[in-house]
Amino acid sequence: MLQQNKPPSATIGSYWEASVDNVRSDRQLMGNALFDVAVIGAGFAGLSAALKLAQSGASVCILEAEHVGFGASGRNGGFCCLGGTKLDEHQLIRRFGLDEARKFVAYQVAGINLVAQRLKDWNIDADCHSNGEIYLAHRARDLRSLGDEAAFLKENFGIKARVLSKADLDAEGYGGPGFHGGLHVPYGFALNPMKYVLALGDEVRRAGARIFGKSPVTGLSRDGDRWRLETEQGFVRAKKVVLAGNGYARENVPNWLYGRTLPVMSSIQVTRPLSADELSDQGWTADTMAVDTRILLHYFRLLPDGRFLFGTRGGIFDNEPALAAMRKRARSDFETMFPAWAHVEADFSWHGNVCIARSLTPFVGEIPGMEGIYAAMGWHGSGVAMASISGEKLAGLITGSLKQQELPAPLQAPLRKFPLPAFRKLFLQGAYWFYDWRDR
Ligand SMILES: Cc1cc2nc3c(=O)[nH]c(=O)nc-3n(C[C@H](O)[C@H](O)[C@H](O)COP(=O)(O)OP(=O)(O)OC[C@H]3O[C@@H](n4cnc5c(N)ncnc54)[C@H](O)[C@@H]3O)c2cc1C
Repeated sequence: MLQQNKPPSATIGSYWEASVDNVRSDRQLMGNALFDVAVIGAGFAGLSAALKLAQSGASVCILEAEHVGFGASGRNGGFCCLGGTKLDEHQLIRRFGLDEARKFVAYQVAGINLVAQRLKDWNIDADCHSNGEIYLAHRARDLRSLGDEAAFLKENFGIKARVLSKADLDAEGYGGPGFHGGLHVPYGFALNPMKYVLALGDEVRRAGARIFGKSPVTGLSRDGDRWRLETEQGFVRAKKVVLAGNGYARENVPNWLYGRTLPVMSSIQVTRPLSADELSDQGWTADTMAVDTRILLHYFRLLPDGRFLFGTRGGIFDNEPALAAMRKRARSDFETMFPAWAHVEADFSWHGNVCIARSLTPFVGEIPGMEGIYAAMGWHGSGVAMASISGEKLAGLITGSLKQQELPAPLQAPLRKFPLPAFRKLFLQGAYWFYDWRDR
């Protein structure tokens, strides 16, 4: 069994926590309550669903194990970008056809626009910066395929990506011995995810939904014409339920979830502020969101205060020796990729869970055979935009303003069980070894 039910500690020592005055604690659920809809999880997905539902007149509560933004939504790299699946555009076309693949990419773009619009409408300064994302070829041979990829994206999706040679990279402030060229895709922007998720929580409260903190849902069962959600100090009865726990979901809430998601750790380090000399020593002065072309990719960006955020995959197990090994490996990758900063210490280091689905695509919809229970999860490490828009769409499915078949096809298939679920982490270890070898 996966160790998912361990009570999490509420502060994680992240840079994002340090960047806000305080993370508000909502009152714990005490006693019993009745709502139209109960949402499990106060991240981008659950909050976005709750916001839309409350605005449509439903009575809504959110039951959150810790606090708003406790999960990945308050821990991520702040890349508001395309993504949400582990399938690339070629695979999407093969599996779903060109029209559905286009619809799905347009949905991702709409997700980015939704986040930008929210921040504007709510007048939130979430430290946004830069335009688009750059993919950096980590091997010389990957550079050759970037030109083909740019042509493919333009022809099939109308995306005008730009290829950068090694000389372009050096001239534009993307210096590093391991970068051989790049592809800039002009969608997305960077933000402080904690500022965004806290603002989203405020909007949810303003819209009249109730958020209960420190209220992990421990059981979910049918109770007459409603669902009953058990917490430590009470229970909620609701006609509809939204599962938005993603990489933090408990596999017995409901039992249907068992074996259908794979929580995978991702880790981030943030350095102290770098001086102008240090930036020029490394030749990295751009603030664009950057990832490399590895399967087990690294993601990084210069923050507005001159610190450098460096993210990579986490370990397999959530125990101190494994976490120490993970930090060591991440640090070693950082020093190899940015050797001029090998002496620069990291002020912050933390990790969190992303959620992988067997189909490698997310699910947004009603769970088959469990009328009134809906799920929105499986963003594959790219959920800032994708979970935001999908929470909103899920609310549309619940109120009936949207039909399941109107969503892009890659979002429609309910989560399937992994084979031999109890061994998922061992398979993951094997996959990491294989991908490490492929990435060489
Ligand atoms: C280190 C890291 C870096 C990342 N970087 C990026 C990035 O740069 N760009 C990007 O797009 N995506 C990134 N992601 C992924 C992105 O953060 C997630 O996909 C997104 O935040 C998921 O939002 P969510 O609302 O679905 O889930 P979460 O934000 O994980 O929220 C789920 C919530 O549910 C709660 N919960 C779960 N079970 C229960 C229960 N039984 N009862 C009560 N509460 C429960 C949890 O406490 C948690 O707060 C990153 C993720 C990590 C971990």
